[in-house]
Amino acid sequence: MNEYLGATPLPPTTAGTALRLHAFHGGGELADMATFDPFGPGVGTQVEVPFFFYLVEHAAGLVLFDSGGHPDLVDDPVGRLGAAAEDFEVQMAPGDDVVSRLATIGVAPGDVQHVAHSHLHYDHAGGIEFYPEATFYAQRRELEFAHWPPVYQRGLYVRADFDHPVTWRELAGEYDVFGDGSVVLFPTPGHTAGHQSMLVRLPSQTIILVADAAYLPRNIEERVLPGIVWSPDAMVASWDRIEAIRHRTNARLIFTHDLDWPTTARLAPGASYE
Ligand SMILES: [Zn+2]
Repeated sequence: MNEYLGATPLPPTTAGTALRLHAFHGGGELADMATFDPFGPGVGTQVEVPFFFYLVEHAAGLVLFDSGGHPDLVDDPVGRLGAAAEDFEVQMAPGDDVVSRLATIGVAPGDVQHVAHSHLHYDHAGGIEFYPEATFYAQRRELEFAHWPPVYQRGLYVRADFDHPVTWRELAGEYDVFGDGSVVLFPTPGHTAGHQSMLVRLPSQTIILVADAAYLPRNIEERVLPGIVWSPDAMVASWDRIEAIRHRTNARLIFTHDLDWPTTARLAPGASYE
């Protein structure tokens, strides 16, 4: 297993840094605040939860991190999700899908060689079928978990999202996509058994795409366990790991479901970071 992120200090990048990171807002869903903090004062309040996915530009190719909700969720969430559609009221409009969003910066599906998924819940893995030529990166444990989920997460996995004849690179630990330390996947289990996050080293800053390892900054800062958890112990250990890497790299954390995204410049739709 590559222990690149365990090295102290992190060595400088070599062949090239990632050039740019784009954040794309792809609709979202209505959910109860209990999802974020089951024992907090907001329980019983409905909030608009954003979906996000990200594209990294690197001299050696493009990396998509997560692929948002499937376009069928726009018109027929019940057909796509079944009974789970009642628990999570999806709010996607035409154009919120990954292919449409990437088209706004001139990127077609055939341009994307690498697609990494934090995990395979329906709000992250709905775009897989549109990238048949890409190589997909997921932790092996996540692929197993998605195919045979425990009863309490069955509603979050849609087999039609990930059961496609694409090329999976099944990871068992850290993975340095370009071999230069600029785009590094690392396991952050807890939300699911095989969740992973992604470190992106840009010319002017380092970013950790936390995905769902923590929903909100508050979850990780105050050690507040959210409502959807596979393993609390693994989640807390992943928070320790994220914080250690953040400390070592002076990284900024970006959360996929950050409820404050409309007021935080860091997550403006279509924002890019260099
Ligand atoms: Zn999610």
